[in-house]
Amino acid sequence: MNPIVADEIRASGDQATPAYGHVVGPDVDISHRAILYLEDITVSFDGFKALNKLTLTIDSAELRCIIGPNGAGKTTMMDVITGKTRPDGGTAFFGQTIDLTALTEAEIAHAGIGRKFQKPTVFEQHTVFENLELAMKIDKRVLHSLIAELDANQKDKIAMTLELIQLTSLAGRLAGLLSHGQKQWLEIGMLLMQEPKLLLLDEPVAGMTDDETARTIELLKTLSGKHSMVVVDHDMDFVAQIANKVTVLHEGSVLAEGGMDAIQRDPRVIEVYLGR
Ligand code: ADP
Ligand code: MG
Repeated sequence: MNPIVADEIRASGDQATPAYGHVVGPDVDISHRAILYLEDITVSFDGFKALNKLTLTIDSAELRCIIGPNGAGKTTMMDVITGKTRPDGGTAFFGQTIDLTALTEAEIAHAGIGRKFQKPTVFEQHTVFENLELAMKIDKRVLHSLIAELDANQKDKIAMTLELIQLTSLAGRLAGLLSHGQKQWLEIGMLLMQEPKLLLLDEPVAGMTDDETARTIELLKTLSGKHSMVVVDHDMDFVAQIANKVTVLHEGSVLAEGGMDAIQRDPRVIEVYLGR
């Protein structure tokens, strides 16, 4: 076990060892299929509307791509969903019943919304394996998990995640020695360890090589169907490779929504992307 974790465990003196996966966060009611509802969300910065009556719905198990030029409001939208920014108006619901505008950032994370920022944030001084172990143990929803040695289920879960993010052969390497792309995959793996119900990824292939981008596309495709995901990017070519349904943001509102082919032919979208 990781020595830091072991010290915390000794210091706590608590011997309880409940089974992993004892989730204490609120249940998300997806009985109407949707996992996220944004309606008429407005965010103003000194009178400038970064989001202007933004309305969109994400279905459970959907992989939605949200594209839009720089400044369209994509990151601000993620900030609203995760509680980092409070909207000036509108409603944001997680499932049918959880009002995101009434929760703190920590409560939203605890409810099951995981977010990956553009820049990877891994524990550089720890190995790949330890990063996944820590991500699982830091999960506030799993009571007292810091106390327990890894059980067989937890080890299996780490092994499966290592396979998924294609880092099995590098499990013992310090995270600080990974390439940029490998760090991004590790961070996605760390989010997965916490079993989020909705995963938000902001520009996941920014700064990656072509080969890393191709492998990331493969990873996102593998995850889709099992996870509800929102992938935000400004690069139409990248989005075209993973997209099922696409929402185009422009000046804080939805400009167009639909399949990638229709979106790429939409004259309003062409103008926003090519007309300037
Ligand atoms: P995107 O992620 O689509 O590039 P952002 O959501 O980052 O766009 O930004 C949308 C608009 O809001 C931009 O014009 C940006 O300058 C502005 N903006 C974002 N955050 C702030 C802030 N904290 N203060 C003032 N303006 C902001
Ligand atoms: Mg952004």
